[in-house]
Amino acid sequence: MNAHVPSLLHHRHRDDFPGLAGNWAYLDTAATAQKPQIVIDAIARAYGPDYATVHRGVYERSATMTLRFEEAREKVARFIGAPSPNEVVFLRGATEAINLIANSWGERLVAGDRILISALEHHSNIVPWQLLRDRTGIIIDVAPLTADGRIDEDALIAMLTPRTKLVTIAHVSNVLGGVADIARLAAAAHGVGALLLADGCQAAPRLAIDVQALGCDFYVFSGHKLYGPTGIGVLWGRAELLESMPPWQGGGAMIETVSFEKTTYAPPPGRFEPGTPHITGVMGLAAAIDYVEGIGLASIHAHEAELVAAARAALGQINSVTLFGPEASAGILSFAIQGVHPHDIGTILDESGVAIRAGHHCAQPLMALLGVPATARASFGIYNDLDDVARLVAGIERVTRIFGSAGSH
Ligand code: PMP
Repeated sequence: MNAHVPSLLHHRHRDDFPGLAGNWAYLDTAATAQKPQIVIDAIARAYGPDYATVHRGVYERSATMTLRFEEAREKVARFIGAPSPNEVVFLRGATEAINLIANSWGERLVAGDRILISALEHHSNIVPWQLLRDRTGIIIDVAPLTADGRIDEDALIAMLTPRTKLVTIAHVSNVLGGVADIARLAAAAHGVGALLLADGCQAAPRLAIDVQALGCDFYVFSGHKLYGPTGIGVLWGRAELLESMPPWQGGGAMIETVSFEKTTYAPPPGRFEPGTPHITGVMGLAAAIDYVEGIGLASIHAHEAELVAAARAALGQINSVTLFGPEASAGILSFAIQGVHPHDIGTILDESGVAIRAGHHCAQPLMALLGVPATARASFGIYNDLDDVARLVAGIERVTRIFGSAGSH
């Protein structure tokens, strides 16, 4: 943890979140974050007094909404250190962004080309590549993990070949919380002429992102994990890359001219945004970015690292608990209790008002590697504090009492 960054633990950010009213320890932020009131207000305003379409209306309300929509694009660009707002494409979320890349950029790949993923990827960074493999005959290589559940970066680099066209990995693992060294891996990928796509779903809410410093080629994330609305997400791609990519889906707003003989396409980002966009989602996302920037990503990261360290220390004392993943985790902790199914852990914790996730976390290959069908996962956000950790630990102690598993290992 960075010693210069003050902890958030004395602030009551929790009070900003109406979804947390009552005595609820919400530890499922990696699935989706609760929304601060200013995000809810921004969406209500966008659907209420400010509502109009973008890019088409000739009347003032629409012109104003268009201005706000494009200002939001600039805000996103600044938030991730992108050189230009034209490199920011608004999509439904990370899943759609990865599918767009697989379908549009992926069109240039031929049988025998290789894509390198890691063993801890979310299904949304596995399945689109398998669909592409089935269409084109590309080969998917899978980089292994270290013993403590991080991407084995040395092994990944050793797997790069001249046929590798793309390395696509999670910046932060949604199951284990480890942080990949994107800058190092991007440099290595470029060394063989490959690109690097970083899945920033869990990183964007937890780390300050600078795509230029990371040196990656694509970066994707979802608004709803960043304290913003569902149904809106971001694809960032280097300008020349986006310009070289064909449209994936066709429709209104993505064209320059249309005739029955020939249609020409708008430059990015419009080329990749067919149809009426999620206007209110973009307004909510802009408010969410204001909110997290007001606190500061470095402080958020330090805060969550502190909470995860406290949870690891306390749960590590319980004999029957196995902790997965690295010590240095960005706010996410997966664990198991010997002899207790994760769903039972989740249900018993729920009885005492502690919400965790139990399941495969859309990472079945990783579960197979860990040798478990599922894990219990606690994930932290800016509204959590040491009280929530204490309630988690008390809940786990209750589980071990109920199942009589406290002493075993
Ligand atoms: N990648 C990672 C690492 C994730 O955690 C998630 C969401 N759990 C996704 C991709 C997919 O995000 P979405 O469902 O918002 O498209």
